[in-house]
Amino acid sequence: MSALPEQTLGRPTPSLSVFDEADHAWAVSGTPGSIARLSRVERPVPHPGLREVLVRVTACGVCRTDLHLAEHELAPRRPSVVPGHEAVGEVVVRGPAAHRFDVGDRVGVAWLRHTCGACTACRRGRENLCPRSTYTGWDADGGFAEHVVVPEAFAYRIPDAFGDAEAAPLLCSGIIGYRALRRAAVPPGGRLGIYGFGASAHVTAQLAVAPKP
Ligand SMILES: [Zn+2]
Ligand SMILES: [Zn+2]
Repeated sequence: MSALPEQTLGRPTPSLSVFDEADHAWAVSGTPGSIARLSRVERPVPHPGLREVLVRVTACGVCRTDLHLAEHELAPRRPSVVPGHEAVGEVVVRGPAAHRFDVGDRVGVAWLRHTCGACTACRRGRENLCPRSTYTGWDADGGFAEHVVVPEAFAYRIPDAFGDAEAAPLLCSGIIGYRALRRAAVPPGGRLGIYGFGASAHVTAQLAVAPKP
């Protein structure tokens, strides 16, 4: 294996001791039609790839999609995948070419994990519609674990204003609710209809009635 060009090397990995201990996670088990369940599993701490970071999870929300996965209504794309795509945590190890965050930074891990960056949807800023997109907790293990790996380009810096548990639901229900609210383009004093009141609606309703900055 050839060495990486010097300019792609990140700062020295602070400690590899995190990989010395086992990681505990909740993985989808059972089969379609069986009783839905998640099973506690012990696994090696995942290693971040070239432009990925390893995050020590401090909070992870539960989305209805996680339950669809556990119930096999949404077929897991990997056996024993670990759900969880509203994860907040601390960067503990950076991949060799990951420079966007420092060790110790607090980041969020959301549903959208990767897009191609080249298709029509990606080039129009609608990467959520990318046909080659991949997803946290579906294509790759998510945040129902002590550690999760995320591509740095798809991690979110979490502002200090939010606690871990407050920030977690923003990473799925907040993102889709905010997008829907913007696309609704409600005029000042206008009326907003919310149909199906779930996790995103409770965030969207707070945004809709909050004083505008
Ligand atoms: Zn979700
Ligand atoms: Zn794309």
